Amino acid sequence: MARDGLEGPVLPRRAVLAGFCGLAGVLVCPDAVLAAVRATSVRLGSHDGFTRVVIDFASQVNFSLFTLPDPARVVVDMPEVAWQFQGNGVFGGGGLVSSLRYGLFQPGNSRLVFDLSRPATVKQAFVIPPTDGGPWRFVMDLEVTSIEAFLKASGPNNRMGTFQPAAPPPEQPEVAVKPPETPKQVASSGRKPVIVLDPGHGGVDPGAIGVTGIYEKNITLAAGKEFKAMLDRSGRYTVHMTRSTDMFIPLRERIAIARRHGADLFISLHADSNPSTAVKGLSVYTLSEKASDSEAAALADSENKVDIIAGMDLSHQSQDVTNILIDLAQRETMNLSSQMAEGMVVQLRREVTLLRQTHRFAGFAVLKAPDVPSVLIEMGYLSNPDEARQLQTREYRAKLGDSLTRSVDAYFNKVRKSGR
Ligand SMILES: [Zn+2]
Repeated sequence: MARDGLEGPVLPRRAVLAGFCGLAGVLVCPDAVLAAVRATSVRLGSHDGFTRVVIDFASQVNFSLFTLPDPARVVVDMPEVAWQFQGNGVFGGGGLVSSLRYGLFQPGNSRLVFDLSRPATVKQAFVIPPTDGGPWRFVMDLEVTSIEAFLKASGPNNRMGTFQPAAPPPEQPEVAVKPPETPKQVASSGRKPVIVLDPGHGGVDPGAIGVTGIYEKNITLAAGKEFKAMLDRSGRYTVHMTRSTDMFIPLRERIAIARRHGADLFISLHADSNPSTAVKGLSVYTLSEKASDSEAAALADSENKVDIIAGMDLSHQSQDVTNILIDLAQRETMNLSSQMAEGMVVQLRREVTLLRQTHRFAGFAVLKAPDVPSVLIEMGYLSNPDEARQLQTREYRAKLGDSLTRSVDAYFNKVRKSGR
């Protein structure tokens, strides 16, 4: 629905190749109020032996860039940009560029990611000052290179350009930090339970793209804000969100945010996609160590790719001792997570279409906090026309929010009764 402001039209490839300026139909972007640098159009051109990218800016812009393998990409970092392109997040490419994504990567740092159709090197990149009142122009030329040369030159350590992005937030050590209070302490202390809502995806990562052109990142953010308002109104909970704007947050940082708030419950919000437009229904996931269900494992894999998409390798090895401590905490946490998920299925069954075997198990990274009961809800399929349309309405999301609030109530009542 138009009033949600959620429509995310994909810029047609033809328009990009033809050098369409898009000023007439400019997308009204809330970032424009905050950011100094406005990007007004982007063009891709195939030339003899190279592909040229040109981006118009309303004022001077600083940049730095590097390449990443698997899949081959060029990542361009800039200060915060107000994107006023025709589309609002993703569109097709041309020449060596297969697609382009852009968005806020972290405060003060916007990012463009050019997906490459084959390994390429940045032959040159520079900014041209305006002539005759025209725009500032960022120009980048790409040419084909060998895989060996591409791998050798890739990585953020081979950054070219002068823009220095802030270091990403440090990861929280898994066990060195003081663990949050357990539900046991909630029951005895009488303090309000703390809930952290996690709208999936954001910024350069749009998540699934619906048949209606809607982006998952926008649905999850709208739902997250509305669910927070409903839980706040109950007066029974302290509710935080991992993000309340359209920005990218690494998966491990989402867990770290929950732990910093001392969360008693973490709820990650997503919407699904399937090659078959007929598949529909809501599902709820909790952590499975083995992710034995192969369908679930494939899904977990695609959600986990988020960190790779944004160009950050966040994998790390824990020591044996750390693993044992986490395992002990995790067993109790997994039981509580399952209780929450089962309760959600009971409440949601009354309101909406559910996927068969509604409560599923997978290895989603955001569910891996060892000491915070966590669930991930796939609110429906954006690949299904009915559910895509429903999820874009406030009324439908309110139904989900009602059910969620009731299941949160039931969960904490049960935890209190069992004296935890
Ligand atoms: Zn998702």
